[in-house]
Amino acid sequence: MWKWTQSAAFSNRVEHYQLHGLHFQHIMLCPRRAWMYLHNINFAQWYERVNVGLVKHESSYQRDHSVVGLIGISPDRLDWNNRIVYENKGSSGARRAATMQTLFYAVMLSIATQEEWQAVVHILSTHKERTIELTPKNLQELWDASTQLVTLAKQHDVPDVKRIPLCDKCALCQFCGHD
Ligand code: SF4
Repeated sequence: MWKWTQSAAFSNRVEHYQLHGLHFQHIMLCPRRAWMYLHNINFAQWYERVNVGLVKHESSYQRDHSVVGLIGISPDRLDWNNRIVYENKGSSGARRAATMQTLFYAVMLSIATQEEWQAVVHILSTHKERTIELTPKNLQELWDASTQLVTLAKQHDVPDVKRIPLCDKCALCQFCGHD
C-alpha cells in the first residue's frame, strides 16, 4: 500500500484550486505563465504556433483509450496492469516541466488507488523513455510546486518576471509584457 504523508493535503489543494498537470508544467517554466493559466487568461487560440501544435497533437499524439473516463487527469496513456502513466513529449526539452507534469499524474493515481504508480515521459522524436520514481525528493518538489501554485492563485497582481529563452516560443509572448 502506497503512503505519502502529504496525500490528503495535496488532494485537497488539487481539488480546491482545480489544479491539473499543465499547472505543474507551467510553474516549472515561468511563474507568470502559471499565473495566467491559473487565472484563466489564455491567448493560445490566437497564436499560430499553438494552433499548429494542437492540430499535430490531435492527429499524431492522440490519447490512448486507456485514459478515457479519467476526470481531471489527462495523461497520454496508462498501463493499468503495471501502474505506469505515460506522457508524450515531442522533444526532450523542458525536462523539469515534463517531469512535474507526469509526476503529478502518477501521484494522483497513487493517491486514488493507494498503490504506487510510475511516471514515464516518452520522447516522440527519439522514441526514448524517461522514468520518474515517486522518491521523497520528487514528492517534495511536487509539494513545493503546489505551494507556489497556491500562492499564485491567491495573488491578484501579475508576478514580475524577466525575459527568458522560452519567451520566444511562448504562446503568451505577444501579450505578456515581460520586463
Ligand atoms: S512570454 Fe516569457 S515571461 Fe511571458 S509568460 Fe511566456 S515564458 Fe513567461
